[in-house]
Amino acid sequence: MRPDRDLVILGGGCAGASLAERLAEAGPAAPRTLVVEARDGGSGTGTRFGDDRTWCFWRTRRHRHEGIVARSWSRVRVATREGRGGVAETPSTPYQMIRGGDFHDAARAAISAAPRVELATGTRVAAVTRLPDGLWRVETSAGPVTAGAVVDTRPDRRPAPGAARLWQSFHGREIACDRASFDPGTVELMRFLPPRGDRIAFAYVLPLAPDRALVEATVFAADPLPPPALAADLADAIAEATGGRGGAVLREEHGVLPMGLLGPPLPGPTGAGLVRAGLMAGGARPSSGYAFRRIQAWADACSASLLAGRGPVAAAPDGRLLAFMDRLFVRVLAADPARGPDLFASLFRRTPPARLVRFLSDEPSLLDAAAMAASLPPAPFLRTLATPDRAPARAGAAARGRIGEPAR
Ligand SMILES: Cc1cc2nc3c(=O)[nH]c(=O)nc-3n(C[C@H](O)[C@H](O)[C@H](O)COP(=O)(O)OP(=O)(O)OC[C@H]3O[C@@H](n4cnc5c(N)ncnc54)[C@H](O)[C@@H]3O)c2cc1C
Repeated sequence: MRPDRDLVILGGGCAGASLAERLAEAGPAAPRTLVVEARDGGSGTGTRFGDDRTWCFWRTRRHRHEGIVARSWSRVRVATREGRGGVAETPSTPYQMIRGGDFHDAARAAISAAPRVELATGTRVAAVTRLPDGLWRVETSAGPVTAGAVVDTRPDRRPAPGAARLWQSFHGREIACDRASFDPGTVELMRFLPPRGDRIAFAYVLPLAPDRALVEATVFAADPLPPPALAADLADAIAEATGGRGGAVLREEHGVLPMGLLGPPLPGPTGAGLVRAGLMAGGARPSSGYAFRRIQAWADACSASLLAGRGPVAAAPDGRLLAFMDRLFVRVLAADPARGPDLFASLFRRTPPARLVRFLSDEPSLLDAAAMAASLPPAPFLRTLATPDRAPARAGAAARGRIGEPAR
C-alpha cells in the first residue's frame, strides 16, 4: 500500500521545524512530508508562533540562522555573591540570540514555498501505531494519516522528579526600563542570587539595549519548577539588575530543561522507520541544558539521511569523554548544590575562554577538556567518583509509575 506521506513529523517546534525547513529546501527531492503541530498559528493570541522563547548559543562556526540573529555579544560574565567569577571575552565566537518567532517565520516561509512539505497547525497527534505491512498510522485530531517513516519530537518524558539528575527551571521577563540600566556589551550568564534553602539560583541577563533586557531567574533542582516557584528569585533578579527600579514587562518566557536524562522514556511507539528527537530525547546537553545547536546538528544529519533515501536518524550520542565529564559534573552539583557558584566561578575564571566556549558548544578537543578539568577543584569530583551513583535506581522507580500518567 502506498502511504499518504513518506514522512510524518510529530511536533513542529524547534526540532520538527528545523527538519522540515531543511527538507523544504530540497524542493522536488524532498520526501512527501507532513508536520503535525498541536499549537495553532499564533494569530489568536496576537503573538507570532514561537515567540515564547529565545535561543542563545556561541557562534563557533557559520550557521544557517546568520540572517535572523537578533543580538550578538562578545563578553559573558559569571559572578558569585562574594564577587568571585570571571569574564570570558570571545570576540571571534560571540554569544548570539535568535528569537523563536523569527526562527519559525523563516521555517514557515521555506515550508509554504515547498510543494512536498506541509505543516498542519492546531492539529494534535493522539496515537501512533505500526501496521502489519510496516507502515505507520498516525491518529490526529484532523483524522488518520499513514506514513513510511515518523519523526516524533513530542516530549518523551515529562518533567518530573527522578526523570533527570537535575532540572534547570527558569522564568524570565523582557523588560523596558525608563532609563539606561544595562551594559549592552556584556551578558550576565550567571549572577548568583541570594540562597533559598539548598538550591542554586542565578540571574541570567541578556541586555538588548541600555534600557531593555531579558532577565531570567534560573534554578538547578531535583524537581522541575513552575513559574510561581521562581517568582521570588525572579523578583530578586530584576531588582538587582535594575537597581530596584524594575521596568515594564514586554513578554515572558518559562522553561524546564533536563540536566542528564535518566530512565527509559515514556511508553510510546517504537520500530523501524520511527525515531524520537528533540529536547527530551537527548537534545539537551546534560551539564548546561543548551539544546538549540544540538538540535540543528541532528536536523542536518537527519535531513541528509532522508534525502539520501536512508530514513530518519536519531541524534548521535555524545562522545564518551564528554558524556563522562557531564555526568560527573551534574552529579557533583546534585550532591552539593551550595558548591555550584564556586564551581562555575572557577570554570570562568581559570579556563581560557576559547577552550571554555568549545567545551560548552560540544566541540572540545582533549586539551580543552583537560583545561576544564584542571580549572576545577579536584576534591568534590574525586569524592563523587568514589560514591555509588544511585540516580539510575531512582529513575527506574520513577519510570515504574511514580511520575504518574503517561503524557500521551
Ligand atoms: C523558554 C526557553 C528558552 C530556551 N533557551 C535556550 C537557549 O537559549 N539555548 C538553547 O540551546 N536551548 C534553549 N532552550 C532549550 C531548547 O532549545 C528548546 O526547548 C527547544 O524548543 C526544544 O525543541 P523541541 O523541538 O524538542 O521542543 P519544542 O520546541 O517544545 O517543540 C515540541 C513541539 O511538539 C508539539 N507537540 C507536543 N505534543 C504534541 C501532540 N500530541 N501533537 C502535536 N504536536 C505536539 C508542541 O506543541 C511543540 O511545538 C530553551 C527552552 C525554552 C523553553
